[in-house]
Amino acid sequence: MQRILIVEDNKTLAKLIAKKIQETLKFEVDVAYTLHEAKLFLRINTYFVTLLDLNLPDAPNGEVVDYVLAHDNKAIVLSGNIDKEFRTKMLQKNIIDYVNKGGVGDINYIIYTIQRLQKNQNHKILVVDDSMIFRKQMKNMLDILFYNVITVAHGEEALAMLQTHSDISLVITDYNMPVMDGLELTREIRKTHSKDALSIIALSSNNDSEINAMFLKNGANDYITKPFSKEEFSCRINNTIESLENLNIVMNHANRDFLTGLYNRRYFFKSMQEYIENIADTPEKYALAMIDIDHFKKVNDTYGHDTGDKVITHLSEILTSTTNYRDMVARFGGEEFCVILKNVNRYSARDILDRLRQEVENTVVYSIDKQAIKFTVSIGLVMSSEDALEDIIDQADMALYKAKQDGRNMVVLD
Ligand code: GH3
Ligand code: MG
Ligand code: MG
Repeated sequence: MQRILIVEDNKTLAKLIAKKIQETLKFEVDVAYTLHEAKLFLRINTYFVTLLDLNLPDAPNGEVVDYVLAHDNKAIVLSGNIDKEFRTKMLQKNIIDYVNKGGVGDINYIIYTIQRLQKNQNHKILVVDDSMIFRKQMKNMLDILFYNVITVAHGEEALAMLQTHSDISLVITDYNMPVMDGLELTREIRKTHSKDALSIIALSSNNDSEINAMFLKNGANDYITKPFSKEEFSCRINNTIESLENLNIVMNHANRDFLTGLYNRRYFFKSMQEYIENIADTPEKYALAMIDIDHFKKVNDTYGHDTGDKVITHLSEILTSTTNYRDMVARFGGEEFCVILKNVNRYSARDILDRLRQEVENTVVYSIDKQAIKFTVSIGLVMSSEDALEDIIDQADMALYKAKQDGRNMVVLD
């Protein structure tokens, strides 16, 4: 488990923060009351992040910050001191944030900040700026916030990078760049990347409100006017990333099945419509399989509904692991699933599904009271044709019906 170090001489406060972190986050927490103790801890452990008081008995002027940063650790500064000059001086160092301490709200903000840093590790940010100094500065600020960062010097390079890295969450682009400016880049990106998949933040150097408005109208989520403070930069980046995450949560609720996390029927039809349009003028064929658990009612009746749910979840994991990331697995309802294998011929489709059938046959699920349960599936398989999707599904249903009639635990290819 990862660790957090709190260096704070106010024991009550240190224990309060430690308790709150242990209750809400999965971290081991060490508490040091002096710089001397902090040094001992830093010698033995590596820390995800450190929380540092500036006023310690053996280090009254924030010396602990320089020590921690010099030893390659990340620091959040805790302070009761809201002196503006001092705050500015602190923020010039490579710290993550400068937060107040004391109030309940302050502790909640600290927890929120640590959670944010954890999630930031899942995000990749592309920085586009023709100035090397700015690129370096931004990369440094984003590194401190735990983001994964790629930097490029111009628009064309950015577009190429987006093609090869499909997991980029945010593009930060300068406005003034040779050949393709930031506005043009934003327009280009929005042709292929919608706001629910990728965020864009623009940097404009002049206080030209017209440019900022143009950015927003052309698909940027936000803008930052140069020069900006590190604090403003961090807050805007984190806010934009958080909005993207929230959007994803909402979309997942709408598109996915609650029990298994697989796509639901509604999303299946929406996504298939796009896919079928995409392959319309190509020779690509897909296979559609309807999969249904055999005698599932018996599982429920014998072991209870909760164990039935375990079987459904287990099957959904097998379906996901036996198929390709491009393929689609959806739960149509109850114990019935639909799998689309993309770009396959009938022989390989049959092979893949028969292997899947065997894997299910060989797997064991444990009931709530630890009894081993075996189960099987029947599969109706159809290759794509000129027919409408609804008709292909009907044909697969017929093949599935035949598999059940002929004794179950088999693949019937229409
Ligand atoms: P067959 O081999 O012919 O498919 O028989 P079967 O028992 O699997 O099929 P049947 O359609 O008779 O029964 C399906 C059962 O699945 C009935 C229903 O209560 C149960 N079921 C549907 N959805 C869920 C679910 O989400 N969780 C659980 N535990 N059971 C479910
Ligand atoms: Mg103190
Ligand atoms: Mg069934």
